[in-house]
This record gives sequence, C-alpha cells and structure tokens, in this order.
Amino acid sequence: MAHGLLETAPRESPAHYDEFDKILVDGTWRHGRSGRTGDDLDPFTNDVLARIPLANEEDVDEAYRAAAAAQRGWADTRPAGRSAVLRRAAELMDARRDEIVDWLIHESGSTRIKANLELGFTQAMTFEAASFPSRQEGSILPTDIEGKESRVYRQPVGVVGMISPWNFPLHLSNRSIAPALALGNAAVIKPASDTPVTGGLLLARIYEEAGLPPGVLNVVIGAGSEIGEPFVLHPVPRVISFTGSTAIGRQIMEQIARAPILKRVALELGGNSPTVILDDADLDLAVNTAVFGKFLHQGQICMSTNRLVVDAKVYDEFVDRFVERVRGLKVGNPSDVDTVVGPIINASQLKHIQKNIEKARADGARQLLGGEPRGLVLPPHVFVDVTNDMAIAQEEQFGPVVSIIKVSGEEEALDVANATSYGLSASVATRDLERGLRFALRVQAGMTHVNDSPVNDLPNCPFGGEKNSGLGRYNGKWAIEEFTTPHWISVQHAPCHYPF
Ligand code: NAD
Repeated sequence: MAHGLLETAPRESPAHYDEFDKILVDGTWRHGRSGRTGDDLDPFTNDVLARIPLANEEDVDEAYRAAAAAQRGWADTRPAGRSAVLRRAAELMDARRDEIVDWLIHESGSTRIKANLELGFTQAMTFEAASFPSRQEGSILPTDIEGKESRVYRQPVGVVGMISPWNFPLHLSNRSIAPALALGNAAVIKPASDTPVTGGLLLARIYEEAGLPPGVLNVVIGAGSEIGEPFVLHPVPRVISFTGSTAIGRQIMEQIARAPILKRVALELGGNSPTVILDDADLDLAVNTAVFGKFLHQGQICMSTNRLVVDAKVYDEFVDRFVERVRGLKVGNPSDVDTVVGPIINASQLKHIQKNIEKARADGARQLLGGEPRGLVLPPHVFVDVTNDMAIAQEEQFGPVVSIIKVSGEEEALDVANATSYGLSASVATRDLERGLRFALRVQAGMTHVNDSPVNDLPNCPFGGEKNSGLGRYNGKWAIEEFTTPHWISVQHAPCHYPF
C-alpha cells in the first residue's frame, strides 16, 4: 500500500469494508437522516473504508427512546443471562480477531502491536464486566427509628449516553458499554467521526450476535459539533460517559448544568504524564519504559509519557541511550509486524503537532531527533533543554514528540512532575522500590506506576484522573458505582411517632 499523502484525494473503498454504512437504532441497521455522509478514512493509505449517512437530532432522540423502552426488560433479565451475553461477546472478539485487528490498523492507524494490545484490553474488560451482574450488591443498614428497616438497592441508572475518542476506539467505547450493559442499563453510543466502526458499529454487531436484545445498544454516527449537544441535553440518559479532550469535557459539564434535567457525568480527559527517572534508576529498564510509554500508538494515548523528568546525575547517559533506541524504531506502515510508529489520525491533528514542534524550537528547546512527515506519518521528535514552563511541556502533545527535562534531586523531580494542570497517570524509575512507592504517593495523579510506563490499564483497577484529567473512575468495582445508583428504601413496620 502506498503512503497516504495529505494532498491526495480519498480513494474508493476496498469491497469488504462496505458492510458498515449504517447506524443502529432500536435493533434496525439503517441510514442516518441528516442527508449528509461521512467518509471513514484510512490515515495511512487515504482509502475510504466506509461511507456512512450521518445521524441527526431526530435519530438521537429515536435512539434514546428505544434505549429507554428496551432497558426495562434487559434490567429484568437474570444476572446469569446478562453475564452470558457479555461472555459470548468476549468469545466472539476472539473468533473475529483478524477482522478486528484489521479494522483497528486501517481505521485508527494502529500499528499491529497496538491493535493486538487494544483487542486484549477490550476482551479483558468484557470478561471483567461479565462478573458485574452478580456483584451488584445492596445493603441493609441499622436504624435508630423504632420499627424501621433501611435497605439500599444498587439499581441500574437506566440509559447511559456514551461519547468516545478515536485513539483507542474499541477499548474506550467498550469500557463504558460492557459494564453499563452488564449492570442492566441500555446505551446509546456516539463514537468519534474518525472511528465509527471500531468505536461503535463493529462492537454493536458483536453484542447483537452475542444475543443482546434489540434497542439495548444503539449507535449514532455524526460530528460532535452537530449532534453533540442534543446527545448530551436529551432528557433520557441519566449518565453521560465521556472520554476525550479536556476542552470538550468542560463544554459537556456546562451543557449539563443548563440541561432541563440534571444528570451525572463521568469524564476521562486529557493528560500530561511525567515519567520520572531518579538518580538510582536501572537505566536499561528506564529507557525501555520511556520508549514504550512515549511511542505506543505514536504517542496518541491519554496516558502517554509527555515529559521525561530526569535526574541530573543520570541525565546525559539516559539521553544518549534513549535517543539511540528511538532512532532505531521502525516508522511507517502500521500493517508491518515490527512498525512502532504509524500514522497520525488525521491531517488537522498532524498540523497541530507540527505547530507545537515549531513553538518548542522557538522557545529554545533543542531538537535531537525529528524529521518531516511522509503522508500522516511523523517520525519521533525528541527535545532536550526543555523547561517545565515551555508550552511543549505544559500541553498534551498527543503525538510522537517528547520533552526531556533535567532536575536536581527527588524533590525537584516531584515539583516538576506535579507542575501541570493535568493529573491522569505518571511513572517513576528507581532501584529502591520503597523510595518509588513513597514518591508515587506524593504524585498528584489518579494512577502512578513504579518501574513501568504511565500507560497501564487493568480491568479490575481504578482508571481515571485528577485535576483537568477528569472526574470519576472506570474499571472494576469503580465502574459498578459509575453505572448504578444507590436507592435507599425504608419500610416502616410499626406506626411512626411524628412530632406533630
Ligand atoms: P475530542 O474531545 O475532540 O472528541 C472526543 C469525542 O467527543 C468524539 O466522539 C467527538 O465527536 C465528541 N465531541 C466533539 N465535540 C463535541 C461536543 N460539542 N459535544 C459532544 N461531543 C463532542 O477528543 P479526541 O480528539 O477524539 O481524543 C483525544 C483526547 O481524548 C485527548 O485529549 C486524550 O487525552 C483524551 N483521551 C482521554 C482518555 C482517558 O481515559 N482519560 C482516553 C483517550 C483519550
């Protein structure tokens, strides 16, 4: 396949991709009613993978109403029945492995390595969620009132509206879909326009084949700028589960504040992860960790290492070894088994990253590695002499660009790590694990990893951020809390004595 050059017109789709040209509303695969069509492009080849007639506000309304109607019956399905659907979905992901990996490579520009990792995360989360129906626990509480019994039921919220990004589309959509459905909710999902198939339509096919009743999961495809507001403001969804940028996350909070009916919001937003290399770090391990944490999926991960914060005592040696490793990474066609750095998702993202690179140079950062893009493939960029106040260190790069910041000692490393408006993930490298643990406890982040990269996601561990990285937690028992609501029900067994 040729490199997709920015200036070339999109090419016609290979025939086997034609299957996904519809949205899913109330169990029916049909065209959206906006009268406009969205092209789903391969960022490496510029092929049109699918042409999807887009949804409008009316489609959003119909999808939410269908979800509300289907939810009651689904919530009444016995736990074993819901669990079985989830388990079958995870098994179908295995049976359709090649097809899913192919879609992730072509639609989201995933390297083969990343596509396989993403599928693994998605299956693991689905199996974890299959345990949720039997973990939906309530409680009986003691009371001081004569004759009163207090019970707390943990009920599904009803309908969840989900909005997901393009970078890990399959996993980040499914980490809301699987737990929400397992707990007896229905859902409407709006995947990112760059990844309508892996972020929604393919998953919906899988859940449909796994036996999910019609209407329980609906998929609407359309630009966030067009159907985003009606999607968020609609009175049916009780929770909006959003993963994406901090700017849009804030916008959604503002919209919800003026919605006719308030609702909960779970926000998984941007990051600016530090990877801290302390003076006693094992440098072989630290370099491996830094290369993986920065360059998996071209750095387009919310948890990606954005800043390498390195103690002055090991700085020169670390920088030399890191640059040597990065220089050897294979850059190019994401389908090749050993490619590490594939294409950026689209031309506007690439432009944004290139602007950040120019700004870093203008601010005085020294570039050790770089190069011009070929099509949407941008080679790794490494900057040294970076100070933490430079834009390159303060802003999420979401690309294969890394800043290296020199610090003197552990306290300065901690101050620099925390001097960001974000607080998603972090990592620290040291041979002294207790030192690493003490350091980690002082990092202002939702997730910190000792001797590993910030890029970590396990289905039973809390995933989420502090500060501008979001609100709430996904995975494990934390997802059970996000997608259920406690209902206090009291029963008065004997007449109550009122004061008047
Ligand atoms: P984005 O915020 O531009 O888009 C995310 C989703 O929001 C898309 O589906 C988009 O169509 C939709 N959207 C856009 N405008 C909207 C509006 N006005 N109303 C409702 N929905 C709207 O983000 P992106 O570019 O797709 O993804 C990259 C960002 O996501 C990065 O900042 C990254 O850090 C973040 N992210 C966070 C996590 C996490 O778990 N914390 C995971 C992945 C990505």
